[in-house]
Amino acid sequence: MAYETTTVPTDVLQGFIADIFTAAGCERPEGEQVAKHLLSANLTGHDSHGVIRTPRYIIWLQEGKVRAGQALTVVHETATQAILDGNYGFGQTIGPLAVDFGIAKAKQAGMAAIGLRNSGHIGRIGDWGERAAEAGLISIHFVNVQAGELVAPYGGVDRRFSTNPICIGVPTDKGPIILDFATSLVAEGKVLVASNGGKPVPHGSLIEPSGKLSSDPRTLYGPIEGTHVRNSANGEGALRTFGDHKGSGLAFMCELLAGCLTGGGTSGPIPGGKRGRIANGMLSIYLSPGSFGTSGFSDAVHEYAHYVKASRPAEAGGEVLIPGEPETRMREERRRNGIPLQVETWAAICDTARSLGLNPPAVAVPNG
Ligand code: NAD
Repeated sequence: MAYETTTVPTDVLQGFIADIFTAAGCERPEGEQVAKHLLSANLTGHDSHGVIRTPRYIIWLQEGKVRAGQALTVVHETATQAILDGNYGFGQTIGPLAVDFGIAKAKQAGMAAIGLRNSGHIGRIGDWGERAAEAGLISIHFVNVQAGELVAPYGGVDRRFSTNPICIGVPTDKGPIILDFATSLVAEGKVLVASNGGKPVPHGSLIEPSGKLSSDPRTLYGPIEGTHVRNSANGEGALRTFGDHKGSGLAFMCELLAGCLTGGGTSGPIPGGKRGRIANGMLSIYLSPGSFGTSGFSDAVHEYAHYVKASRPAEAGGEVLIPGEPETRMREERRRNGIPLQVETWAAICDTARSLGLNPPAVAVPNG
């Protein structure tokens, strides 16, 4: 089944998104940084965390739920540990600062564990694994969303977790290997994409309050009208975790590490029962492979990856991929051919731009 999309050249889209954030109150460099990371998600095929987020981010900025021009506050620091507060700045601003903080410590001490709290939405976590890997470091990231309950625990129907991604990045001399996924069966943004007429989510990604499994975005967002910004507070159902009790257990641990240990709080309701602003917490562990005294790490990784990929395909014409391969391939293709966006997604971004006094760029007619 084909979905109606509009393909926008990468540089045009990135410039337009930077214009929107600048018009909404960011300094130009911050607008460009937000645009760069949203585009990175689209380029790697994670449209759920790409420019589709723009209308919602702008509303959050206007409501004061995310703040332009923020820096990190160091709450606690030792030679190998820190707790950083992102002051509700844009995740695309705060994320790189926090990762660079961890990189600097791990370069000194061989390893570091950094808790980040109160960051605006930090988007595709793979960007942070890639950033650490580019500095030669292994990194492991556990993430939660403070006051962002969307996901039912295994055996339950009520929302208790956020979509709680986990990312592991490994540097090699031929580029990073990045595992990066939500512990929900699908990321919330994939339901968002589906609600805009994009690829439907698999049946059973969602659960109704009655316990009935669903793939209908209305389970999460309630009634859906045109390009209006989707609000998960209007839906009565929940996302489900992947892998039954295993994914549910990982999601639970993300809450403990990224929520309780960082001090940012879990995805549960904030004290007083009022839902606050939505912010990410992240516990990141950085390891310098060179500090372990073993030699030939990169070669051993490639040798093993080659062996894994040589497993005979389960289906004729199939292929075994290692983590990060789909994203690398997609990035190459989309850099060449542009970013396909659901027409609803493009229309919602254009509406946001017009509300800020900007004229959307002319792009090709829908692909059909
Ligand atoms: P997904 O289900 O597409 O899984 C992606 C991971 O699986 C990648 O590591 C990819 O390389 C690997 N993969 C995909 N197909 C593969 C194959 N055929 N063989 C081997 N490996 C394969 O990802 P998702 O769960 O939908 O998450 C999407 C994005 O959403 C991620 O970037 C995640 O960080 C982000 N996210 C962010 C937040 C947040 O709060 N900031 C919350 C949830 C998710």
